[in-house]
Amino acid sequence: MDDAPITPLAVPSEARTLIVFGGTFDPPHWGHVKPVVEARALAGVNDAWLVYVPAARSPHKSIGPVFSDARRVELLRLAMAEIDHAAIWTDELDRGGGAATYTIDTLRRLRRTRPNAALRLLIGADQALALHRWREPGEIVRLAPPLIMLRGGVESSRDALVAGLRALGAWSAAELGVLESAIVSITPVAASATAIRAALAGNGLDDATRAMLPPGVSLALGRSTG
Ligand code: ATP
Repeated sequence: MDDAPITPLAVPSEARTLIVFGGTFDPPHWGHVKPVVEARALAGVNDAWLVYVPAARSPHKSIGPVFSDARRVELLRLAMAEIDHAAIWTDELDRGGGAATYTIDTLRRLRRTRPNAALRLLIGADQALALHRWREPGEIVRLAPPLIMLRGGVESSRDALVAGLRALGAWSAAELGVLESAIVSITPVAASATAIRAALAGNGLDDATRAMLPPGVSLALGRSTG
């Protein structure tokens, strides 16, 4: 679907840096907001625009999202309500037609619409350890050098993540250099969409789960789960 029309991007054309942040956002939570804003600041590109890209269906997950596309976009809008210089770009939803889409195609389409902007791909540490299995990983790193947020669990320390990336044996020395210099030590946020979906499917939103959600999302999910 690479010849599909490119969805207009609601970011001023003079924006010099675009930080692309893709995800299923099923549902969005604090982990998609707080560390993202912090990563932008730590990377020294405070004037960069954050471009949230909701995925139609992750090629890396065996089952599709629980929430509908429209609902995930609506919840994402609520989650990022307070963030400056941030936009949602629905190009993957619009071109995917429910099928899997690939980050490299998204980046190439973004490059076509914004030929002069510097692109960065923001990912969590869990995704950094899987990036070598994405389609054309070397091209992704070249086109949009990643910014990597540490996350809880085994990927919570910089040293552990660097060791993990090296142990993969998948990256050239130059690529490893780019990846290692891309790690930003954000304040970890213990939130995951899997945990939130499990709570919703069980007894509903308890206090611990609500603490993972920005207020607008928490309110919206409290009203209905569909
Ligand atoms: P799921 O539990 O369904 O796998 P998720 O909580 O990991 O979902 P995604 O939408 O898959 O959320 O994540 C989008 C991006 O956000 C990924 O790059 C992921 O690594 C990152 N991310 C998600 N949660 C956090 C968090 N708590 N801290 C840092 N990064 C996070």
